[in-house]
Amino acid sequence: MTSQQTIDLHAHTLASDGSDTPLELVGAAAAAGIEVLAVTDHDTVEGLGQALAAGERAGVQVLPGCEVTGDVDGRVVHLLAYGEGLLAPGAIDRVAAVRRDRQQRNLRVGAELEALTGVGYADALELAGGAALSRAHFARALVRRGAVADVAEAFDRYLSNGRPAYVPAPSLPVDEVVALVHAIGGVVVLAHPGRLAPQERERVVGAAVAAGVDGLEVWHSQHDDQARRRFMATAERHGLLATGGSDYHGRHKPGVRLGSGTGGNVRVPAYAADDLKERLAAAVRR
Ligand code: AMP
Ligand code: MN
Ligand code: MN
Ligand code: MN
Repeated sequence: MTSQQTIDLHAHTLASDGSDTPLELVGAAAAAGIEVLAVTDHDTVEGLGQALAAGERAGVQVLPGCEVTGDVDGRVVHLLAYGEGLLAPGAIDRVAAVRRDRQQRNLRVGAELEALTGVGYADALELAGGAALSRAHFARALVRRGAVADVAEAFDRYLSNGRPAYVPAPSLPVDEVVALVHAIGGVVVLAHPGRLAPQERERVVGAAVAAGVDGLEVWHSQHDDQARRRFMATAERHGLLATGGSDYHGRHKPGVRLGSGTGGNVRVPAYAADDLKERLAAAVRR
């Protein structure tokens, strides 16, 4: 009998915008039979220490990761950084600085929104309950206070690019992210290319490859069969690692399950984790 390894290389904790503590996340991974779990919070490594310790106790191999907010010509992209080097003090100081700039941005969004609706920064902060603030929290605060009917209306009226409370989020150019991660012996993967608009997908992926990304996230909760096949072909064409994960956020994304995604669409094969680990070992030696 062959045993099917369960792998998840993309998951969030309370350190960014997930609902689980690192301990709860690792517990959920153990319960789901996951053997290899990468913890990839947005622009922070704060949850990694606890996750690694919990992984040791639970018998789950935890890979240190971080989902860095980058950009390609002003278009926001998410870049999954993997590697032990992320654990070194100050490893992602540059990313942390951008994260602080996001705080300034959130204050501006809150001020604009408050003037327009009476719902502002404090409301979003309360709703976020300690998670890193994003426009999603402002949207939910607007819904809760009855200023809009639903989250979609909140974005359409106020928060989307071009709407009155929109403020661009600061981010790092993709080549800077690649340089930073390679400098600490890590590996960089372009996350969920399926979220890119079809008309700009080729350009953005091409620019990311030109900037030196090592891999492409092929398996993801938002990738259907067709997307998965397409991105596998893209990865092969460019000689990129193929990785994957659920992008689990706990109860903040209720449809997405750790280790299996949406309706079981994320089944990351063992070779994807093996190839990533092999590349990381080679990167440290280089
Ligand atoms: P931010 O990083 O602050 O720009 O906010 C990004 C968050 O807003 C993510 O959680 C997105 O899923 C969410 N978001 C962006 N645009 C929309 C939209 N049109 N409808 C619903 N959620 C959105
Ligand atoms: Mn998120
Ligand atoms: Mn993402
Ligand atoms: Mn993510």
